[in-house]
Amino acid sequence: MAKRVYLFNEGSKDDRDLLGGKGANLCEMTTLGLPVPFGFIITTPTCREFFEAGNKLPPLLEQEYRVALDLVEKNMGARFGDPENPLLFSVRSGAPVSMPGMMDTILNLGLNDDIAAGLAKKTDNPRFAYDCYRRFIQMFANVVLEADGEQFEHEIEKYKEQHNKPLDTDMSAEDWQAIIKTFKTLVNFPEDPFVQLKMAVEAVFLSWHTPRAYVYREMNNIPETLGTAVNVQAMVYGNFGDTSGSGVAFTRNPSTGEHEFFGEFLFNAAGEDVVAGTRTPLPLESLKDKLPAVYDELYNTQALLEKHYRDMQDLEFTVQEGRFYMLQTRSGKRTGRASVKIAVDMVNEGLISESEALMRVSPEHVEAFLHPMVDPQAKTDIVATGLPASPGGATGKVVFSADEAVQVAAGGDKVVLVRRETTPEDIHGMKVAEGILTELGGMTSHAAVVARGMGVCAITGCGSLKINYAEGTATTSDGVVIKRGDVITLDGTAGDVMLGDIPKTEASSSDDFQVLLSWADKHRRLKVRANAETPEDAAKARELGAEGIGLCRTEHMFFEAERIDLMRAMILSESKDERQSYLDQLLTFQHDDMLALFKVMDGLPVTVRLLDPPLHEFLPHDDAEIEALAGRIGKSADKIRDIVKDLAEVNPMLGFRGCRLSVVYPEITEMQVKAIISAAVAAIEAGHKPLPEIMIPLVVNVREIRLISEIIDRGIRAVLAEKKISVPYKIGTMMETPRATLGADRLAGEVEFMSFGTNDLTQMTYGFSRDDAGKFIPQYLEKKLVEADPFVSLDQRAVGRLMEMAVNESRARKPGIKYGICGEHGGDPRSIQFCHDLGLDYVSCSPFRVPVARIAAAQAKVKRETGNA
Ligand code: ADP
Ligand code: MG
Ligand code: MG
Repeated sequence: MAKRVYLFNEGSKDDRDLLGGKGANLCEMTTLGLPVPFGFIITTPTCREFFEAGNKLPPLLEQEYRVALDLVEKNMGARFGDPENPLLFSVRSGAPVSMPGMMDTILNLGLNDDIAAGLAKKTDNPRFAYDCYRRFIQMFANVVLEADGEQFEHEIEKYKEQHNKPLDTDMSAEDWQAIIKTFKTLVNFPEDPFVQLKMAVEAVFLSWHTPRAYVYREMNNIPETLGTAVNVQAMVYGNFGDTSGSGVAFTRNPSTGEHEFFGEFLFNAAGEDVVAGTRTPLPLESLKDKLPAVYDELYNTQALLEKHYRDMQDLEFTVQEGRFYMLQTRSGKRTGRASVKIAVDMVNEGLISESEALMRVSPEHVEAFLHPMVDPQAKTDIVATGLPASPGGATGKVVFSADEAVQVAAGGDKVVLVRRETTPEDIHGMKVAEGILTELGGMTSHAAVVARGMGVCAITGCGSLKINYAEGTATTSDGVVIKRGDVITLDGTAGDVMLGDIPKTEASSSDDFQVLLSWADKHRRLKVRANAETPEDAAKARELGAEGIGLCRTEHMFFEAERIDLMRAMILSESKDERQSYLDQLLTFQHDDMLALFKVMDGLPVTVRLLDPPLHEFLPHDDAEIEALAGRIGKSADKIRDIVKDLAEVNPMLGFRGCRLSVVYPEITEMQVKAIISAAVAAIEAGHKPLPEIMIPLVVNVREIRLISEIIDRGIRAVLAEKKISVPYKIGTMMETPRATLGADRLAGEVEFMSFGTNDLTQMTYGFSRDDAGKFIPQYLEKKLVEADPFVSLDQRAVGRLMEMAVNESRARKPGIKYGICGEHGGDPRSIQFCHDLGLDYVSCSPFRVPVARIAAAQAKVKRETGNA
């Protein structure tokens, strides 16, 4: 039978899984010789046994912990249940992963009427003894007997009022005794200390299943199966008198990361009083003034612990009659800014290595440097929650259309654009908005992709919000009505919508952040590129460290105001000649766009994807717009309506798009290629070094590639026939249909690079339309039918398997062929780990994700090097 009970001198900090984080660290501190009140730990596997047996303690457990308890009694020189010389315990939860305040703790366990009287006599401090006793009954009733805690507080208040004793400190031993008498009429309370202990152990195990613990695990991805350990520890008393007290401290400032010892202390108080907030704690300096020796010991202890753990520590300690005791140490929670500063400082102090520093910073931490963030402390009532589509925080006046957004923003007000969904025609409104909120759409919907690209905060798929454009209202499921012009705040990192202007932290880089990024660059293998179309986005991407463009979606260029009519006229053309005349005009625009991009990305590869979306996406659909267009391009409205109708598709996502457009309209492709290559020529002539990579989308077989390569060659030859210049271009294919991945070796034979488009690949592997997934993915997540939204975090099992086969077969056919990923997954840290493991050459993501991806790519490599799965 496995050992279920460990004394504090039988474990170490490496036993987190077995003993829980709190227990493992209590053991470590005991071994370090720090003053830790002695005790024992019941292991986490025992918790699982308890649940498996239908919430019953294993029969031999009590026998085993009684042996340990004897040894604790010897160590402490007092006895549990002995009125002459009583020993009391705290019974504390502690899971392998820190869940601060989520589970239960019971203090002062082992008291009854006799023992309380004994404690009063032995300590010669009846007031203290009866204060402990009443606290114990309250806690035990609350946690173990699940009684309503309010009634106890109510009795105390009533008593204080009746006897005109407003403060706890006004209460005498007799007062507390009277209160205890009343308490005992409220609950049926076990007098036998060993029964109390057994019930407390059970209650701590059960507290693993409280709703708040469950929600915390859900939010922090902590497995349900872990369970908690139970720490049974001898009590020390901060409420013993004026030379006693309790405190908490951080070895560095958890909000700024500043290297300063930092904490709070309350005299004559138990630890629970510090957290409860009923009395305002004093800064640690007060301890320095009144008990200098204790302060010194605390100071030395924190320095020792930080050095020992090589990380910022969060400490809990108690002082009893001028003696110092350590009750807890753990790695302290910290803000994004603090985490980066501490990591960099610790490397400079020689405490940790660069790769360790990289592992200390999470992707969420990095976001604080890139976007304003809603201050978690200031967060108020959340009126609706959707998908966290684009991180950051934003506040503004609600507008319901792109035109309105532009109008209100022009008047100097900040706006939040609220739409059922967005389309490329909303871009002008999205550009001026602080934040975007949509009722429909998933994590890869238009709104989500565009917002991430612009670095604008967005929440999509907020289905609990019903938008009424006509009335200018959005109504939450609780009936809260948000009207046009109301100020709301979005937390795009969490997906929460709040009313009013909630304070936010400013985004700004720091020297430490830049240092950390430079280490990331040193330690990663994967290259990081950006998905960008405009010179502004490309410049931003380069500034944030992008090493090229992995995806330039050429269609975005055609949505711009001056070109959209030309594009429409081209699509609506009824003869090849007519079409060609519009293509010639579009070529000029496309040439200029590409030239601007090549200049910004001087010396770095720019992957240009040929036209991809279904053509009807460019066309107007409502009558007024069609009439207006008819006037502008000189075509009859009826004719336009006919063509629009012809182009309509039942299932556009699987329809006439991608390279299928090149097959039917080779002249469009030829125009695009001419524009790309002539722009490259112009860039070279202007002294730049363009590296164009032409990418064919949505390929399913090798014959498509061959046919389209011929068209591409034709375009290139046409340009280079005139200019005697060599342009270092490459031709490649997207890998985004399951069929392409299944025939990757043959495709590899025809191209120089391949890039996974995991949005479409996920869509087609699952058969989940990404524009409609917002309607059911939340349910899939809630019912645990999928582990994560497959459009956010790459599905490694199936989509990943297709990718792995494709890479292996392609490389077998053409060793070293360049491989990338340019779907939205390119910026997701877990997916980046997978891409690293797969041996891809680069990931490409939206510009504001680039720093996150640089760090994630470094972490991916460090993890593998240290065997840290
Ligand atoms: P949490 O995990 O919620 O922090 P803890 O187990 O740390 O819960 O207990 C909460 C508080 O109870 C501690 O901060 C400390 O002040 C007090 N406490 C716990 N054990 C003891 C003890 N043996 N003696 C005195 N106070 C204790
Ligand atoms: Mg604690
Ligand atoms: Mg695609």
